[in-house]
Amino acid sequence: MSGHSEKITTLLLDGAFLPTGFLSGKIAFLHLLKNSIRSFDAKENLIDNNLDWFSNDGISFYEDQPYLTSKDKIWFLPTVAVLKKNYIPFLRKTPKTLSLTKLCLIFDNTCQICFDKYRKEDLTIEHIFPRSKGGTRDLENITLTCKKCNQNKKDMYPFRNSKNINIKSVPLPVPVIPNKHTKIRPEWSKFFIYKKININDNRL
Ligand SMILES: [Zn+2]
Repeated sequence: MSGHSEKITTLLLDGAFLPTGFLSGKIAFLHLLKNSIRSFDAKENLIDNNLDWFSNDGISFYEDQPYLTSKDKIWFLPTVAVLKKNYIPFLRKTPKTLSLTKLCLIFDNTCQICFDKYRKEDLTIEHIFPRSKGGTRDLENITLTCKKCNQNKKDMYPFRNSKNINIKSVPLPVPVIPNKHTKIRPEWSKFFIYKKININDNRL
């Protein structure tokens, strides 16, 4: 098979239509064969039966619809798919912690103490309950601050930000973040309702 087999082609949604991951062309195709996903076509019809999808009959495709080819056939791949209920085990688990890069995306490079924006180089992962006192690296205990605020805070806990409220950790659930090789498709944006991240961000 050739075509888009290794490339990320498909945004995967859970049963509540929230992003839960991304699929490569090959994996999207396997899910189609297993009938474990439903697919949105270009007119936002949700196609339940993958035989209908494969028949191409009455399905609208994007001009740049990803596909796989075998010897004599083109197999179009959905760009947005929804997991069927019986395939919940495929749901991606919430990560336990996050890198500085991902925190920058989630918080839009904004320090959670002074609320100014900084370049990534001037930001740091803040452990709300200090590491030196046994604080963990878990999501509930990390946030993003500028280096200056981080230094002022030291190991004080609790600590109030410039709005006089306790510093907050990562908002849950953590939005799915595509890796930097993923070509973002415009039809994906509307499913990212946690507007903390802009998936069209060119730093991705
Ligand atoms: Zn700051």
